[in-house]
Amino acid sequence: MTVITRFAPSPNGLLHLGHAYSALFSQDWAKRHGGRFLLRIEDIDFTRTREEYVQAIFDDLSWLGLEWEEPVRRQSRHMDEYHRRLEELKKRGLVYPCFCSRKAIAEHIRRHPDWPRTPEGAPLYPGTCRQLSPEERQERLARGERPAWRLDMKKALASLGARAKTLSWQEEGSGPHGERGRIPADPARFGDVILGRRDIGISYHLAVVHDDALQGITHVTRGQDLFHATGLHRLLQELFALPAPVYVHHPLITDEGGRKLSKRFRDRALSFLRKEGVSPQSIKRLLGF
Ligand code: GLU
Repeated sequence: MTVITRFAPSPNGLLHLGHAYSALFSQDWAKRHGGRFLLRIEDIDFTRTREEYVQAIFDDLSWLGLEWEEPVRRQSRHMDEYHRRLEELKKRGLVYPCFCSRKAIAEHIRRHPDWPRTPEGAPLYPGTCRQLSPEERQERLARGERPAWRLDMKKALASLGARAKTLSWQEEGSGPHGERGRIPADPARFGDVILGRRDIGISYHLAVVHDDALQGITHVTRGQDLFHATGLHRLLQELFALPAPVYVHHPLITDEGGRKLSKRFRDRALSFLRKEGVSPQSIKRLLGF
């Protein structure tokens, strides 16, 4: 088996030291295993993507000395593939349209202080639109109301039968609490997640699972901030009968205060450091490569 890793940034800001670490980590993992390294541009969110950030990704990574295979996959050019996935789930009755506004959901949760939350801290969807009758759904869609599409978590798990209980992944990096080895997926903790966003039509989870399988990624190398989402990704892989890659989550590079670096802080951007005369070698040394 040839190891294939990828670095998959979203071009909605400038890359910073945290991205440099992630990209170097992915390339290094591939190199050490005699494998291949891919770059993928995750630009489905047209409300935040900017072309100048796509170019900056290429420039910054080249400057760092990274080499990736061409052509680079750009998710925005493959929306039809993700929509076909969503359509399949619609046909199987595993997603339903949700017409709730963010405000209505927030209001519901405000009235229930102990409302359950996902491992990432977001409140679970209360399930309001799961109860709608087929007629009401049809009527609202026909009226031109634009819904989000949510996974019916209970139905999805039921469709897997006994496999739902043993769903897990192989972790060769570590989770935020040092989790390693065989990790239970436990996707029910996410509730009815959105797979089709109202604004852009598709969610990150659907696109990432489709692409990792399509590109034959054997080792998904990424930051620990996505550790919990892996449970959901494993469920989607199982629903679509896609292979399960190995996951290698790495610690996040934090600022002096221990906070995750953000694309908002331009002074930590790679392009800023480059203009300040910092060398790629010193950045690699700083990051331990
Ligand atoms: N595009 C995602 C991000 O920039 C990363 C996706 C992944 O590595 O699975 O946060």
